[in-house]
Amino acid sequence: MYIMEGTMKKRLHKGRMQSVVKKVTAVILVSVLSLTSYRPALADTKQDLSNANDAKAAIEKKLQDVQNQLSQLNKDKKNIESYIKELDSNLASIDGDINSLGIQIEDKKNEITQAQEMLETVQQQSQEQYESMKLRIKYMYENGTDSSYLNMLITAQDMSDLLNKAEYINKITEYDRQMLDQYAATEQQIAETKELLEADLTSLEQMQVEVEGQKQALALIQSTKVNELQKLDNKSADAKAYQAQLEKDKKEQEAAILAMEAEIKRQEEEARRKAEEAKKNGTTPAVTVPTYDGGKFKWPTPSTRITSPYGDMEDRSSPHHGVDIGAKTRGVSGDPIYAAYDGTVTLATYSSSAGNWIWINHGNGLMTVYMHCSKLLVSEGTKVKKGDTIALMGTTGNSTGVHLHFGVRLNGKYVNPMSYFG
Ligand SMILES: [Zn+2]
Repeated sequence: MYIMEGTMKKRLHKGRMQSVVKKVTAVILVSVLSLTSYRPALADTKQDLSNANDAKAAIEKKLQDVQNQLSQLNKDKKNIESYIKELDSNLASIDGDINSLGIQIEDKKNEITQAQEMLETVQQQSQEQYESMKLRIKYMYENGTDSSYLNMLITAQDMSDLLNKAEYINKITEYDRQMLDQYAATEQQIAETKELLEADLTSLEQMQVEVEGQKQALALIQSTKVNELQKLDNKSADAKAYQAQLEKDKKEQEAAILAMEAEIKRQEEEARRKAEEAKKNGTTPAVTVPTYDGGKFKWPTPSTRITSPYGDMEDRSSPHHGVDIGAKTRGVSGDPIYAAYDGTVTLATYSSSAGNWIWINHGNGLMTVYMHCSKLLVSEGTKVKKGDTIALMGTTGNSTGVHLHFGVRLNGKYVNPMSYFG
């Protein structure tokens, strides 16, 4: 438990550091955006777009980490809570033991008191018997001739001494002897019983001390666990605050990506306007701008094996924003990747998340995205026709196997690619 806490502390600390780095990145990105009034070159905007995409992926990765951390914290909390519950029930059962020991000790003390009273009664009866016997012996002496009776009485220290003077035993009346023997036996028996009761009492009191000790130890563990639980609650609160911050950062990055795409579109509109002006003036336009005519797409690779459909939530923190298509031969790179439609390559670069990737602008706010390629065969500005081989399939970037992630963006939003095929 403690080792785990240490690790979590480190993780949290690392998280905070990354948060700072990411905030700095966000500030830089925002600055880049505010510089759009300088009309940066289209290529720069596209590089920013790629960077913003990476930054967003990094935030998503951190979000996943913090979610794992939260679920671990919850697991730890549940463990401690169930342990505290167990301690509670142990403490309750110890309280029961202490209570029953208290009752037993009280009973034992009463029994000892009773034994003591009985002992005193028997001793008193015995003494009375002795006194009356002495009177009888005195009478025997006064009416007889043997002085040894009186001697015996004078020299005897107590009743048992008297009884032990064997030579005189037979002189005592049979009745007295029987009574004295009986009293002595009873007294001894009661004394023995009392001794046993006292021994019982001692062991009960020892048990009481032990159980009280156990109770104190358990109460100490319990307060430690309650403390630990409090610490975990604090950590959860920290992690949740961090999670909220990451969610906010992610939204900022998404906004940054949208703004950059809008900037690309604005520049294209401007080029289109210039082309129209040139047409009007009878001059040759400097640039041609693609226009999507609504035609059907070509499937972007020979394989049709879809490994993860659009909108898929399995093992993901947000819905899948494209279609994953596996290689013709599972795990083997190099399948050709085709341009899904006529257009201009807007982006052909490497990103740590998307790997080698391509964006094709088809015009009218429609773009296709091809990720994780082993090799790119086109570059930014290349005009492509539907079906042209633009790249080879691979598993570059944040990918777990050879596949093509094919995405379609319409006006800055990912849409379901399947509706563009015939
Ligand atoms: Zn994918």
